[in-house]
Order: sequence, then C-alpha cells, then structure tokens
Amino acid sequence: MKFTHLLSISLLSFSVFAADAPAEKEPKVITPGKDGAPPSDAIVLFDGKDLSHWKTETGDQPKWKVHDGILEVAKGTGNIFSKDEFGDVQLHVEFAEPTPAHGTGQDRGNSGVYLEGRYEVQVLDCYNNKTYPNGQTAAIYGISAPLVNACRPPGEWQTYEIIFHPPKQTADGKVQSGSFTVLHNGALVQDHTEIKGEPTRAANFTGVAEQGPLILQDHGHAVRYRNIWARRL
Ligand code: MG
Repeated sequence: MKFTHLLSISLLSFSVFAADAPAEKEPKVITPGKDGAPPSDAIVLFDGKDLSHWKTETGDQPKWKVHDGILEVAKGTGNIFSKDEFGDVQLHVEFAEPTPAHGTGQDRGNSGVYLEGRYEVQVLDCYNNKTYPNGQTAAIYGISAPLVNACRPPGEWQTYEIIFHPPKQTADGKVQSGSFTVLHNGALVQDHTEIKGEPTRAANFTGVAEQGPLILQDHGHAVRYRNIWARRL
C-alpha cells in the first residue's frame, strides 16, 4: 500500500473517532499547593490561626488549644466537629504524636480522623508500639489494617492524604459500598478499601448519609494537628 493511502485511511479513522467522541468537560484550572499547602480550590479547615471552622458536639466553641500555628487536643474536652459537612472528599491532615512517648497499645497518642463523623482513620503512636492490626495507625478502625506501618517517631510531623467515598443509600433501599484510599507519610496504606456502611464502634453518628462532619477525636492524649484542608470531589 502506498504511503498516501495509509495517510488517507488514518485521517479517515481519526475524523470518525473525533465525530464519535463525547464532548469532554474542560478540567478546571487550579493552583496546586507546595509542600502540603492547600491547592487553590481547597476548603482550609485549620490554617494555624483559629478554630473558626470547628465546633463541639453541642455547637459550642471547642476548648482545644491553638498555639504556635498548631492545634492540640485539650484532654477531656471532647471531640471537635467541622462546621462544613462532606461526602466525597480529599482530605489532607498533618499530626504529631506526644513526646516523650508514654503508654502502650491503644493508650499511646490516640486520636482519630472521622469521615462523615462515622468512619475513623486511626491516629495512634505505633512507632515501636504494637497493638491489634485493624486498630493501629492509619487503620480504618475495626475494619481494615494499613498495608504497612509508616509511622515516624513521636514529635515528628506526619501526613495523611485521605480520599473518601461514602457508602450510599440506593433507590431499592440497599447500601452501595464506599471506599477509603489513604497515604500515610506518602506510602499507600489503604488501597480503595471497601466501606460497607457500618460506622466505627461508638462513632458520634450512625447510619448511611450523603454528607457529615469531619471529627477529630479527643481520646485523652495531647496529639497535635496542623494544616488541615479538604477538597470536595
Ligand atoms: Mg482513635
């Protein structure tokens, strides 16, 4: 076959393909963040200054401590709830465990990040500290152990990148599973983990919902947080 024939055939197939292709939506242009800083389309939930995006379970001003650009659990004052509610979401959270470390198992630097107020991504100091696998750092508590233990020593800042799709109620009354994908300090620890709709034991909310608040857990340990932001998906 002559080159000109080949050319006309490939042009023909290209034009057929182009005509059949569905109209694609142009992706929105955003400005990415640098070194964990929020992208331009993120909702910044804690920027180091105040707790204006958070409330207590009863809707009051939380008593957690804000100092030196960080947010610290004030032991015994209760969980804090984001005022914004989220369903499908990308969440960035940074945390540091108390130092020097004290306690063992679940009693060491325990806190947690609850999506929709229901499903806990465990925060715990598991650096040289053993506990049951589906309760350790970056576990979906009680549901799924992390693929690896990527903990940094207490006192060092650590990151969670969480991509969450909630379980959904379908028209026929069934529950369609949701999922968690989580990176801990850059390592994949939850790989599209299935969430069937049963919340973490003793969570503040029950049942399946389209949206819910993020919750940071007061488990009686002075865990610190900083740089918390979310993007709706
Ligand atoms: Mg916890």
